[in-house]
Amino acid sequence: MIPNNLYIYNSLTSSKEKFKPFRKNSVGMYVCGPTVYSDVHLGNCRTFISFDIIFRYLQHIGYNVRYVRNITDVGHLEDTGEDKISKKAKIEQLEPMEIAQKYTNSFKDVLKKFNVLNPSIEPVASGHITEQISIIEDLLEKNLAYISNGSVYFDISKYNEIDSYGKLSGRDLDKIKSNSRNLNSQDDKINEFDFALWKKADKNHLMKWNSPWSLGFPGWHLECTAMSNKYLGDEFDIHGGGIDLKFPHHDCEIAQAVGYTGKQPAKFWIHTNMLTLNSKKMSKSLDNNILPDELFSGKNDIFSKSYDPNIIRFFFLQAHYRNELDISEDAIQSSEKGFNKLVEMIDRLNNVKVSKTNNDEILNRIKDWERKCYSCLDDDFNTPMLIAEIFNSSKLINKIEADVNFGDREREYFLNLFDTLLNKILGLNYIKPTSDNDSILKILLDIRDEARSKKDFQLSDSIRDQLNKKGIKINDKD
Ligand code: AMP
Ligand code: ZN
Repeated sequence: MIPNNLYIYNSLTSSKEKFKPFRKNSVGMYVCGPTVYSDVHLGNCRTFISFDIIFRYLQHIGYNVRYVRNITDVGHLEDTGEDKISKKAKIEQLEPMEIAQKYTNSFKDVLKKFNVLNPSIEPVASGHITEQISIIEDLLEKNLAYISNGSVYFDISKYNEIDSYGKLSGRDLDKIKSNSRNLNSQDDKINEFDFALWKKADKNHLMKWNSPWSLGFPGWHLECTAMSNKYLGDEFDIHGGGIDLKFPHHDCEIAQAVGYTGKQPAKFWIHTNMLTLNSKKMSKSLDNNILPDELFSGKNDIFSKSYDPNIIRFFFLQAHYRNELDISEDAIQSSEKGFNKLVEMIDRLNNVKVSKTNNDEILNRIKDWERKCYSCLDDDFNTPMLIAEIFNSSKLINKIEADVNFGDREREYFLNLFDTLLNKILGLNYIKPTSDNDSILKILLDIRDEARSKKDFQLSDSIRDQLNKKGIKINDKD
């Protein structure tokens, strides 16, 4: 039995609720993935890093987690009605699938740099057309959808007879007014909030499939219903995404799933808040986005130097995932200083003289602190509180430094805890000091000394800078 004190803020009920999965030891989690028509920006990365923490922590407390994060390679339309990927394919003169592959690859490369774990399944929308067609057929049979000029739309007013549309975002249903039946309107829809399940493709549309209704393509919302249902079942534990997806995307997903299965798809809805730049949401369409590689390489007008992905990850985790976070060079620099301080603090602990006898009082104090750390994570994955608690442990380290009786047992316990919290749960790239690391460090420093004696400053500076990024400072005497 998993000891579970975890509370999660559920957007569906707007309250923190005790987490209890459908099955005893397993969790099913679906997170909306990227639309792969351009490079992901730092805002997108913040969202995927937030879910990485959730994934890591659920596994850490003992759950088997099936984490499904999709790739949207079809169906996400511009306001003009043009498919985002097709549009980019025309601009870059590539096949649409080449565009999707190119940006899927770059998405995965970036997440790897941020030390984000791979999900259990990463399905693509274009690989699930038959599943989407089956759902549409079912919704048509139930009279929850209608065909109009080769396209198929979800019928909101029919749906409202069985459940109310818009309950996740709390949209005022009165505003969802029923337009008069005007099938000649631009979208051939009955009601302005009806949404496309299937769109008939025009001649110039590049990605299209056969269906009972037309040569066309599925609507964007449908892929997530098809893939979450296929891999996690009618009911699963967690559905996540950025807060900007709450409406209409997630409300549409709920409507489709309830129509199809008769059940609410997810027990918990988790929404991450936005990364902003000068208080404006970072967004591909607003053209205010910073690409991760621009920051890692220092090639960006806004930032004066390069920053390690680890520092950016730490910067993100210093804010709660449900709060907005504004990015600026000052804020990143203070995270950088904070992270280095943390590494120094743990280094001090590693260098404390250990005695042969154990000290139960110190061990109990370490365990008290451990409980506090876990209560931060159990409180809706509160990483800023956890980081503050980690800094708080410096008081204990001060005491240990002043106290001669610090046993090997206590030191191992304390250092292992830092390793678990920083590396395994927060996914930071903090190197736990071990005798192996010490000897590798010695080898590196010897190579560097040799390089300096041969005046190979390119190599010696590079070793110094790399170690510096990991929080290891080198003070050359000459
Ligand atoms: P997209 O590829 O636009 O569908 O976005 C992929 C994910 O990134 C979605 O979950 C979005 O909600 C999320 N996202 C987009 N912009 C931001 C932002 N500025 N800050 C945090 N998350 C974002
Ligand atoms: Zn989705």
